[in-house]
Amino acid sequence: MTVTATVEPLVKARNVHKAFGDVEVLKGIDMDVAPGEVVVILGPSGSGKSTFLRCINHLESIDQGSIMVDGEQIGYELRKERLVKLGGYAIARQRRKIGMVFQQFNLYPHMTALQNVIEAPIGVHGESRQAATDNAMKLLDRVGLASKVHNYPRQLSGGQQQRVAIARALAIRPKLMLFDEPTSALDPELVGEVLSTMRDLADQGLTMIVVTHEIGFAREAADRVVFMDGGNIVEQGPPEQVIGNPQHARTRAFLSRFI
Ligand code: ADP
Ligand code: MG
Repeated sequence: MTVTATVEPLVKARNVHKAFGDVEVLKGIDMDVAPGEVVVILGPSGSGKSTFLRCINHLESIDQGSIMVDGEQIGYELRKERLVKLGGYAIARQRRKIGMVFQQFNLYPHMTALQNVIEAPIGVHGESRQAATDNAMKLLDRVGLASKVHNYPRQLSGGQQQRVAIARALAIRPKLMLFDEPTSALDPELVGEVLSTMRDLADQGLTMIVVTHEIGFAREAADRVVFMDGGNIVEQGPPEQVIGNPQHARTRAFLSRFI
C-alpha cells in the first residue's frame, strides 16, 4: 500500500459564470490553486481577468458555479444543508483571507506609508497599535521601504507607492494575494522594483494569482500560466509550455505581440 499526500487547493473555482446585463464575461471558469502556488493569468483586454479576480474577492457576485477559498465558499455558507448568502459582516471576514493589489495603488494621500499599512489591522481587525506598527515596519522593510515609513504618498515614486500598497495588502496576513496588473500604471523604469518585490513574495511561499502583461515575470515566477480569452480559459500549464510552446492559435496571437 502506498500513502500519498493530498493537499487541498487553497482556491477551488468551479464553472464560474458572470454576466453584466446581457454580456457574459465569464463563461464557466474552473481553476484550482494549491497552497504556495503562483498562478499568472495572461490574456487580452476584456477577456474577464479582472472580473475573475474580483469574483474571488467577492467584489462581484457570481451568477453560477462556486468559488471556495481556504475551505469556505465565497459569499455563501451552508446552514442546515441549504446554501445561504452571507451578509456584509461575514463577507468582510472571508475577505480578510485575501489581499488585493490594484493597478491604481489607491493609498490614502493624507496618511504616511506606515499609517496606510496599519490602518486596516487597527481599524478593521482590532489589532493593537503597537502590534500593527511592529508588523507594518517588518512589512515595509520586506518591500524595501524601511527608510520611507514616514513619507506621504506624494513624496514617493509610483513604484514605491505600489510597494506600500503591497505591504498594506499583506498587513491583514492574507492566505491568498491577488494582483491585478500591478505594474501597468508605472513608468517603465519603475516596473522592475515592483516585480522584484513580487518575486520575493513568491519565493517566500505566498499563494498568488497575478494578472499581468509582464511575460518575463510569468516565465520566471509562475508555477503555472493561465491564458484567458473571451471569458474562457484557453490553455494553461507551466510557463515553458504555455509561453514557450503555446498550443492554441489565440495564445500564439496574443504572445506574438510581446516578441
Ligand atoms: P480584463 O481585466 O481581462 O481586461 P474585465 O474583467 O475588466 O477584463 O472585463 C471583461 C468585460 O466585462 C469587458 O467587456 C468589460 O467591459 C466588462 N465589464 C467589466 N466590469 C463591468 C461592469 N461593472 N459593468 C459592465 N461591464 C463590465
Ligand atoms: Mg483587467
